[in-house]
Amino acid sequence: MVADGSAAPPSARRPLRVAIIGAGPAGIFAADALTRQDDVPVSIDLIDRLPTPFGLVRHGIAPDHPKMRAIRETLHRSLDQPLVRFVGNVDIGVDLSLEELREHVDAVIYTYGAALDRRLGIPGEELPGSLAATDVVAWYTGHPDADRERVEAALALARSVVVIGVGNVALDVARVLAREPSELESTDMPQHVLDVLAAAPVEQVTILGRRGPAQAAFTTQELRELDEMTAATVLVDPVDLELDPASEERAAADRVVGRNLGVLRGWAGHVLEAGRTPLRLRFFRRPVRLVGEGRVTGIEVERTAVDGDGRAVGTGELELLPADLVVRSVGYRGTPLPGLPVDESSGTVPHDGVGRVQRDGRSSAGEYVAGWIKRGPSGVVGTNKHDARETVDALLADAADGTLAVRGAVDDLVETLQARGAEPVLLEDWRAIDAAEVALGASRGRARTTMHEREALLAAVRAVVR
Ligand SMILES: Cc1cc2nc3c(=O)[nH]c(=O)nc-3n(C[C@H](O)[C@H](O)[C@H](O)COP(=O)(O)OP(=O)(O)OC[C@H]3O[C@@H](n4cnc5c(N)ncnc54)[C@H](O)[C@@H]3O)c2cc1C
Repeated sequence: MVADGSAAPPSARRPLRVAIIGAGPAGIFAADALTRQDDVPVSIDLIDRLPTPFGLVRHGIAPDHPKMRAIRETLHRSLDQPLVRFVGNVDIGVDLSLEELREHVDAVIYTYGAALDRRLGIPGEELPGSLAATDVVAWYTGHPDADRERVEAALALARSVVVIGVGNVALDVARVLAREPSELESTDMPQHVLDVLAAAPVEQVTILGRRGPAQAAFTTQELRELDEMTAATVLVDPVDLELDPASEERAAADRVVGRNLGVLRGWAGHVLEAGRTPLRLRFFRRPVRLVGEGRVTGIEVERTAVDGDGRAVGTGELELLPADLVVRSVGYRGTPLPGLPVDESSGTVPHDGVGRVQRDGRSSAGEYVAGWIKRGPSGVVGTNKHDARETVDALLADAADGTLAVRGAVDDLVETLQARGAEPVLLEDWRAIDAAEVALGASRGRARTTMHEREALLAAVRAVVR
């Protein structure tokens, strides 16, 4: 509110201050959409709990997918916009409460992603040797919060690996674990990750699906890539490719499913040659429990069939598969941000359909949501662009009709954070980190090596004398 208690329209003198929480694709696309319009003067703080931008583009997309990871160059152009201020190393809910943040800005866009794993809910899931794909991905991409000890202890004993789930993340994990060390050398993986993977005793990798190949969520390109590895052979049991009529119909109607089946059928005749790592795709198997004394040594599965609606139905037939490492890749969900409602079942923030946050069934003035925390963990990076645009359109419409307005003088967010001892990482600081990673890579003949320790990232910032 301005001095007389009323709200004022944004102007060049006092633009609308918008905080975006989460500098992943959705946050960056939202910032970009705000800078590409002339209707409402804005200034944007793009906040992330990590000292680095890009969210899952840095800590999700597989390092052996350099072309996909290169999307960060495009995202970087939006960070370079003068109206956008990157404010990294600030955890909303820890360094600053949501309530405190809202005192500094007129509007908040939540784009903090959905980084928690979903669980299987079966006995044995807590045993050492049982990991979530989120753990493994965080580790191999060098996320500062990765549980190195747990993942590396599991990998040291991993002869038989079972990956549960039939989406692209399961393929990423299986591929990274089955690759020859030399195939990963050109990636930006931290050096300790390369070393641990090279020493891991992996002899076989199995990907398990509860339902059939017609219900799998792989994209065809990612699936095909499994068979392009130097030392692994993909094996598929032809019996698993015999489909019920409803699945046949699905394969005929859905081009991706049809193409995936074509790829899988092409692999059904593969023969394993000596010295190669078998990478098996097994369908119609539902995990029942993880078996082991003190650590995982196997996984019991129940054979299934799919009903007319594509649901898995147990047959009662049990099978024990050897496994020293079980990685579940059965989805992501959002973490609750203290002070923000979350729909428990979907793990997303309730909104009006276009991104206005709902509290008690009504749109909450000045609160918006985009990306995975808005629509759940689905789609590719580009899906977040349209999604963020939709949310920003809602924000701009609210600014145009006066629902959202400048609320009065506010203190500078970064100065406030610094005054209370936080160490916000700004764009030029990120550039110092970026340069340090490139230099670290160059010292080993690589284009970049990801620095995985928060302290090392911050040390790179402090090392630059300004
Ligand atoms: C393993 C994996 C592999 C993938 N591979 C591909 C691929 O090959 N190709 C493709 O197109 N898509 C891929 N995706 C999907 C893609 O990464 C997502 O669509 C996209 O990253 C979602 O964007 P987002 O901004 O909503 O969330 P995120 O990318 O998760 O960004 C959220 C950001 O919010 C920050 N944050 C969280 N909590 C807070 C807080 N309290 N305060 C401040 N900041 C916070 C996080 O640090 C993070 O930077 C993959 C996803 C995963 C999980």
